[in-house]
Amino acid sequence: MHITKFLKQVRNLLEFHKALGISTYPLTPEIKQFLGPSMQKNKTSDPAQSIAQTKESAVDYEHTPIPPVAPPAASSKETIADIQQEMQGCTNCRLHEERNHVVLGEGTPKSGLMIIGDWPSLEDDLQNTPLGGEAGDLLIKMLKAINLGQDDVFITLAVKCRTPGNRDPDPDEVQTCLPILHRQIKAAAPKVICTMGSLATHTLLKNNDLLFRLRGHFHSYDGIPVMPTFAPAFLLKNPEMKKTAWLDLQMIQRKIATFKK
Ligand code: SF4
Repeated sequence: MHITKFLKQVRNLLEFHKALGISTYPLTPEIKQFLGPSMQKNKTSDPAQSIAQTKESAVDYEHTPIPPVAPPAASSKETIADIQQEMQGCTNCRLHEERNHVVLGEGTPKSGLMIIGDWPSLEDDLQNTPLGGEAGDLLIKMLKAINLGQDDVFITLAVKCRTPGNRDPDPDEVQTCLPILHRQIKAAAPKVICTMGSLATHTLLKNNDLLFRLRGHFHSYDGIPVMPTFAPAFLLKNPEMKKTAWLDLQMIQRKIATFKK
């Protein structure tokens, strides 16, 4: 490749990362695994790698103010298990017709961290888990990168049944399903919520701004800090965005540290 063209591409990429708020990338073995082999292969063609090599372990986000954890929302007497039992045969909207399972969630409800994805994939539906398929594997890797196992979170979805052909859920289906999520949040009383995907983020925050703009900052749901980030399925198709998601995960990791003190 001609050197001028290469330099132009590098400059464009760096400007893109700057616009997203990325300036450094810490590198640990877990992070390298999460970011994928491309981070380790071509040392000269990846400007992000160059930055990482010169500033290994540096984290610009350490100066980003983290708002204090809000007092936990009053926990309802209803438990996640009560909701699972009641809603596992839900037929409140048309999505019940083709689904195999109502994918209500997995993990530890009282862990303090709730992850909310968009809606179940076919694999999620068949396996009755929000961690099905390749996207589920990636989510597990993402959690591992911030030292969390599957038992350290409760993972659920904004819409609990898969859609025909994996189409976007219709607004009336989202609204019909939403009370289940609200009840789950009240029952689990998380201290931090991470929404993964546009639908989960827009639905919970009642804010239809672009996910690109909403991510990277804590928002609030009923006093609970909410960090929006990209869905694992999106990251599988756009692996270059893993670095941006990683910054969001770091914010969550720091937030968790404040309530574990
Ligand atoms: S998507 Fe939600 S409201 Fe619709 S049938 Fe499934 S659980 Fe019930």
